[in-house]
Amino acid sequence: VLELSDVLSDLTHLMNRLVGERIRLVFSEEPDLHKIRADKRQLEQVIINLVVNARDAMPTGGEIRIESANITLSETIHRDRAVLPAGDYTMIKVIDEGFGIPEEKLGKIFEPFYTTKRAGEGTGLGLSTAYGIVKQTGGFIFADSELDEGSVFTLYFPSFDPIE
Ligand code: ADP
Ligand code: MG
Repeated sequence: VLELSDVLSDLTHLMNRLVGERIRLVFSEEPDLHKIRADKRQLEQVIINLVVNARDAMPTGGEIRIESANITLSETIHRDRAVLPAGDYTMIKVIDEGFGIPEEKLGKIFEPFYTTKRAGEGTGLGLSTAYGIVKQTGGFIFADSELDEGSVFTLYFPSFDPIE
């Protein structure tokens, strides 16, 4: 069981190093986030993968926002292959100002080995790994993108309920 704010603060230094000087990381966090039931190393891996992808989409720099909030779904969400039951979730958004993802590719990015990067620069495994990790917690990851505007990756993790 994890506190997302601890995970993010533990990663801040590494993330800033990874994105370099041209990219500003901006955190926006709701106080008293629900706890998440996930493996710490795996959750770190997911966040790092998303931040590195965002960086790679912003060769001239800009801003990456990492937002987290508690969210209650009042009805089940059916989207893509996901079914997210109504209930309490902790939501993380990674928002970039990069070159975006064309709509016809948006359905492929979570497939293993799908990459648009040159050999040695990307394995195409980052998002498929992230997808598996988030799904294993009972959550889901969605991608939205606007070409030349940027991309948003939205992660839902079921909130840990100590009464369960
Ligand atoms: P890799 O980063 O090794 O290529 P990923 O699974 O992490 O593999 O991502 C797959 C592909 O999805 C990337 O090659 C890229 O084309 C696209 N992608 C992922 N994140 C972003 C992003 N934030 N902006 C633009 N394209 C992205
Ligand atoms: Mg990647």
